[in-house]
Amino acid sequence: MRKMEVAKTIESVRTLVKAARSRGKKTGLVPTMGALHIGHISLIEAAVKKCDFVVVSIFVNPTQFDPGGDFEKYPRPLKDDLEICKKAGVDVVFAPTPQEIYPQQNLTWVNVEKLTEQLCGRFRPGHFRGVATVCAKLFNIVKPDIAFFGQKDAQQAIVIKRMVADLNMPVEIVVCPTIRQPDGLALSSRNQYLTEQQKKDAAYVYKSLQECREMIDAGITDSKTIIAKMREILNQASAIKIEYISIVDAEMAQPIDHVAGTVLAAVAVRIGSARLIDNILVDAGRQ
Ligand code: AMP
Repeated sequence: MRKMEVAKTIESVRTLVKAARSRGKKTGLVPTMGALHIGHISLIEAAVKKCDFVVVSIFVNPTQFDPGGDFEKYPRPLKDDLEICKKAGVDVVFAPTPQEIYPQQNLTWVNVEKLTEQLCGRFRPGHFRGVATVCAKLFNIVKPDIAFFGQKDAQQAIVIKRMVADLNMPVEIVVCPTIRQPDGLALSSRNQYLTEQQKKDAAYVYKSLQECREMIDAGITDSKTIIAKMREILNQASAIKIEYISIVDAEMAQPIDHVAGTVLAAVAVRIGSARLIDNILVDAGRQ
């Protein structure tokens, strides 16, 4: 197993990446908030495959949490995370403190317009501003050739891709598929907040998305009809409180009445104290 470094400061991670780059290494960055699971590991594996030098950032970013949200209680099992990273072949874990990333009041923010108005953006004002800003900071700190994100957070991936394009950031964005439990539940650090019964109910989220895919495959194109059926399925799980069910175009994340081309079906629910999101991309062809 190769040696893994843990960098707590911007200066130290920059020095490590600079040395790797001077040896001609292609650098990959996997931004995470830690509490790593197989979903994160799949991103790291993709990075190890495509890059010669892999940095995983572990940073619970305060500016992307909702006021009164779970920032304080968000799991931070750093020791386990480091073990996972080491086994997965990571070269550097960048695990800064909030003070390191935000040493003074932050006055410069990245706002990606339009794409952040729907889906989670409607319910989490400021969330994507925090996400885009911290990713811009991480890209400036690490200067990766490629950064890896999960399809699980579809709107996040759309927003980051657009930020990189609009601001000419010299980084390639790779989006990796969502990793699920055998019952379909998408892996998430927030699943830890669920009881066993709530986890069973949470599997209805993917069931509703599968139903959406089946309906589109069967030629149903009216979004309202599809969403009504998805709602019916989610309502079968007593613990689920639906936040939104949306069908949007996959690039601009705008709601569509009539399904055509590649669409994103996305669901957000609350179960107990957890907020869970999931989505699928469906190619509806030219309907
Ligand atoms: P997080 O630690 O929740 O901020 O997630 C870090 C990265 O891992 C993001 O790009 C997520 O989209 C991705 N990710 C989280 N869960 C999964 C999953 N189940 N499958 C694939 N990627 C995931």
